[in-house]
Amino acid sequence: MAVPSIAFVEVGPRDGLQNERETIATGDKIKLIERAIAAGAKRIEVTSFVNPKRVPQMADAEAVCAALPDRADVTFVGLVMNARGAERAIATGRIDQLGAVAVATDRFAIANQGQTSDGSVEAARTIIAMARAAGLTGQATIAAAFGCPFEGEVGEARVVAMARRLAEAGPVEIALADTIGVGNPAHVARLVARVREAIDPLPVRVHFHNTRNTGLANVWAAVEAGASVVDGSLGGLGGCPFAPGAAGNVPSEDVIYMLERAGIGTGMDLEQLIAGSIWLSAVIGRKLPGMVAQAPRFPQAA
Ligand code: ZN
Repeated sequence: MAVPSIAFVEVGPRDGLQNERETIATGDKIKLIERAIAAGAKRIEVTSFVNPKRVPQMADAEAVCAALPDRADVTFVGLVMNARGAERAIATGRIDQLGAVAVATDRFAIANQGQTSDGSVEAARTIIAMARAAGLTGQATIAAAFGCPFEGEVGEARVVAMARRLAEAGPVEIALADTIGVGNPAHVARLVARVREAIDPLPVRVHFHNTRNTGLANVWAAVEAGASVVDGSLGGLGGCPFAPGAAGNVPSEDVIYMLERAGIGTGMDLEQLIAGSIWLSAVIGRKLPGMVAQAPRFPQAA
């Protein structure tokens, strides 16, 4: 395989933290963002602009944005579900990119954002258009692209059709998300290749949860199939409040260890990620799922 490099997106401050029961202080969220930047992250999902009654952990979205470090070289992403969220994100003046979510099945779309799958695609298109009109960029994630917690199997043709429709709105990329961590590498390779062809030349980003321990294998399959952007969450924190049994994202440090050791550049500093993961574990008050931070260093420091 000849993949020289991928781009990495740290989603810990949003996807990683959103499922935590204990409120994480805004200051700690900012420290997490600063640690991600210190580790080389050029794109960070910093918060989501959603109903605080539904996702209390993200109630401080505006406060997080007000405290973001001044870094013109880092793209700060705000996740939004509807026009109201897009307006809030744009109004902060600190968000560079709006992340929209379209859900592949009706039942999950209704649970996640109160609309049908088709409705979620149209909402995502509106969000991307609003981002562009405001001088920002937009991107779209297809959630439950590999399986749905309520409807089970998700047809590949459905996901490809959604990606085509979303691509018409002018996003910077389309992401395939395995929200409930049911994907396997063969499925991932097939779907990434199909979507990539459907939206060419737009890049495909991938977002995996490690619910069934297939996360890293799925990252590898996706990169080999041409996905050029990979999401990860420091320590492997994460989950979805609206998907029963959803576990954490693939751990950033484990993804970076695997790719860098395989000769694929990520622009990330593994030592900084490991330090960040250890710090985050102390903030959260429990051991995190990521394994590289808990293992002896390899190769050993000279
Ligand atoms: Zn996720």
